Amino acid sequence: MESVCIIPVLIAMLCNGVKGERKMKDLNRLHPWMKTQAETLKVRSKLELGIDIIITQTLRTKTEQDELWAQGRTTPGVKVTNAKYPQSMHCWGLAFDFVPVIGGKAIWNKPDLFKKIGALGKSMGLTWGGDFKSLKDMPHFEAPNHDWKELQAKYGTPEKYIATWGK
Ligand SMILES: [Zn+2]
Repeated sequence: MESVCIIPVLIAMLCNGVKGERKMKDLNRLHPWMKTQAETLKVRSKLELGIDIIITQTLRTKTEQDELWAQGRTTPGVKVTNAKYPQSMHCWGLAFDFVPVIGGKAIWNKPDLFKKIGALGKSMGLTWGGDFKSLKDMPHFEAPNHDWKELQAKYGTPEKYIATWGK
């Protein structure tokens, strides 16, 4: 049976109730284009698919990515990421994770719902994690035509990149 990648589920559970949880869901921490995309996706998902979604993760700071990286390596628990800071697009404010919500409950185990929203996001120009070859990540969207190596070469650090957004 096909399943939704478990990693964002674990990350969302981990981050639930911990310090900084609300910050990690804050759309204002995203690149302005990604923020608009996330807001549009929420509205269109409701209107066109009849599916409510919430955004579970946006930008991750170095501290936040380091904490996720440490889990299952130097701190207890299972490994939830293979990305060291700043190798995740979340570190650059260019990725967000979502989950469908039915009756106030996050629905992590329905691949069909993720696929519908994945197709909608792709039609808007986003890159969907469900298409990743190495590690399928259905709850994940990121900006197209970017990768962390190119960003690092051009800007050095996420902080310097974020400083160019001109908000
Ligand atoms: Zn993600």
